[in-house]
Amino acid sequence: MADHPDPIDLDRAAAAVQELLTALGVDLTDESLRDTPRRVARMYAELLTPRPFSVTTFPNDGSYDELVIVRDIPFSSVCEHHLMPFTGVAHVAYLPKARIVGLSKLARVIELYARRLQVQERMTSQVADWVERELEPRGVGIVLEAEHLCMTIRGVQTPGARTITSAVRGTLRTDPRTRAEFLALVGNR
Ligand code: ZN
Repeated sequence: MADHPDPIDLDRAAAAVQELLTALGVDLTDESLRDTPRRVARMYAELLTPRPFSVTTFPNDGSYDELVIVRDIPFSSVCEHHLMPFTGVAHVAYLPKARIVGLSKLARVIELYARRLQVQERMTSQVADWVERELEPRGVGIVLEAEHLCMTIRGVQTPGARTITSAVRGTLRTDPRTRAEFLALVGNR
């Protein structure tokens, strides 16, 4: 999927929701349903549009060479297989080399990749790719924990079941000490 999707056509989306509901046997003349197609169109437009942000990275002046970790960044995304939300938290860790980044920016990076049709595995890799590309760190570790509504309200129906995905690269993958430190910091809570 492209990083810059086509612009959203709200009128067309509303017409499509109306068509979907009609096909599902819903009577849209009902007062409270009349604006539902447009509301749904606007909601999906919001869920699929990340807020723009610019990234500023800084030289790692103090030569900080221990793990930087931001834990429990909340996110909501939309499962591309069912158009249902999946929500949870992300943990982002990196071992700096030449550059560091404002910590609040890491939350915006999560949002950047959450606000689109997604699968959790791909989102995890995309966040790891971003950190690798922008910071060129010695190592990266990303963990996403999320509950998928498409899984918990239908089919096997396992409320509260969480899916955990991870992407671990560089020294976080190869150095047992750093890897263990990372896993201890994001797991076992
Ligand atoms: Zn799904």
